[in-house]
Amino acid sequence: MPDQPASQGSNNPRNNPRQHKKPTRRHPGASVPASVPHSHGVSAPQPQSAAVLPEMRPQPAAQAPSPQQEPAAPREQTAAAAQSQDPRLHEAPSYRPHAYQQAQPQPQPHQAASPHGYAGYAAQVPPRVVPATKADGQVAPYADMGRYKKKGKKKASVVSIIAAVVILAAIGVGVYLYLNPLQFNVTVNGMTRTVDRGTTLNDMIAEGVVSPQPGNLLSVDGEVLEEGGGAAFAGTVNGNEVTDGATELHKGDVVQLDDGADATEEYDVTTEETAPGQVELGEGAIHVYVPGEAAQVEKRTGKVSGKTVEETVKEGSDNVYLKYNANTNGEKVIALTFDDGPWPTTQELLDVLKENNAVATFFTIGEQISDKTDYVETIKRMAAEGHQIGTHSYDHAATGGGNGVDMTRQSPEKQIEEVQMGQQAIADATGAEASKVFRSPGGNFHDEIIWNLQPYITGEIGWNVDTEDWRRPGADAIAERLLSAKSGDVVLMHDGGGDRSQTIEALKIALPQLKAEGYKFVTIDQLLAYDDAKALAQELAAQQEAE
Ligand SMILES: [Zn+2]
Repeated sequence: MPDQPASQGSNNPRNNPRQHKKPTRRHPGASVPASVPHSHGVSAPQPQSAAVLPEMRPQPAAQAPSPQQEPAAPREQTAAAAQSQDPRLHEAPSYRPHAYQQAQPQPQPHQAASPHGYAGYAAQVPPRVVPATKADGQVAPYADMGRYKKKGKKKASVVSIIAAVVILAAIGVGVYLYLNPLQFNVTVNGMTRTVDRGTTLNDMIAEGVVSPQPGNLLSVDGEVLEEGGGAAFAGTVNGNEVTDGATELHKGDVVQLDDGADATEEYDVTTEETAPGQVELGEGAIHVYVPGEAAQVEKRTGKVSGKTVEETVKEGSDNVYLKYNANTNGEKVIALTFDDGPWPTTQELLDVLKENNAVATFFTIGEQISDKTDYVETIKRMAAEGHQIGTHSYDHAATGGGNGVDMTRQSPEKQIEEVQMGQQAIADATGAEASKVFRSPGGNFHDEIIWNLQPYITGEIGWNVDTEDWRRPGADAIAERLLSAKSGDVVLMHDGGGDRSQTIEALKIALPQLKAEGYKFVTIDQLLAYDDAKALAQELAAQQEAE
């Protein structure tokens, strides 16, 4: 402790190098307010108003006579260096005239004796002050030193606690500054830059660190409305897309700023749906309706340019009346169909089908089911034995201008009524919803009829093979035509409308032969299941468009 001797015998703190030194070392920290030393110095004599000071003064004094005093001083200095708040250090400035003069107005007994000037104060104060400020054992002539000493020990622990708090606070500040340094490095487009805290992406551009070209502002039809009016940049920070130039950078950020994209002016949008058109595609015995989809067209009117452009946001497709023949991929299946029943001999015909393990489809006349209760039993048997039952209209188009053969001469409302009443008759007989396949009387299924009936039927079924059994050409002739059927064919016969004995005989001849050739007999629904009508319609539509 080199300054120790210099302080010996000096009652004036101004002459004590240590006391001058302490404020100087403290300055960099600058955390100790000027008022602190001032108040300490003045309040020193007031035991009740200075919580810290009184015990601080006796501490060095009490240690003074001890040879162990020397180690104590360095500890005090170390503490002063680490923590400028150490109350003991505050005393040095208190002896400056300035501090003293400020203190003068305070009514204190000691100052009353020397109300003006530093000289007067210095003359009287030193004997009382020196022992308290110095770790110097030479000056401590107080009679009541014992009292101070006792208190000093007691309060020393308080100082330790304060010191600990200050250290923790310092550590906290240090950690904060480590995590939030005032300056740090970032990588911008591959270059390392040291930036101040608070630096933004815009700052990087403004300072010319990077110079991304802004995009342009475009009108709804793509013309340039304003050069550079688009995005200022296309950027990422640590791989995450960033569009806000005010985004602040953080320590270690990896920034990539590239040219901005063009932007389109704001616009008003109206969306219009275009109803599907109607188109007939294909050829064949099976006639189905494949619903299309409405197209959606977006109209965009630019708020800046006032221009309007249209864009199809959803392609539509036409409603299709699709005609095709079943493609069973070579599978030997035939769909037998019988019109105009039920009839008195229908049960006999059902027996033949049963003997040959064959199912078929019956296109019935609703009026006949409703009028004759014994036909209800026939209908029930058909359903029970796995046959499909569709309608052939309610009265075979006998009313409403159909002349008994042609529904196309009827009004749309009458056409719908024929179908709905025919299906209701089946449902009433079987207790279950009727099949939605339909065969139009006389095979007259054209013009507007498909569009009128499509909500009520899944398909209108024509034929590939007409046995002309209604002409009664003889069982062999009917059987011969029956035997001409190929895979996927629909065969037209009749179980009603007249004497059907030839038809029944023809079935007895042909069915065993067809079975022997490997054919199976299926219902219309089973036949329809072989094809994807929607895909077929799309395929044909694409073909038509290509032509
Ligand atoms: Zn008919």
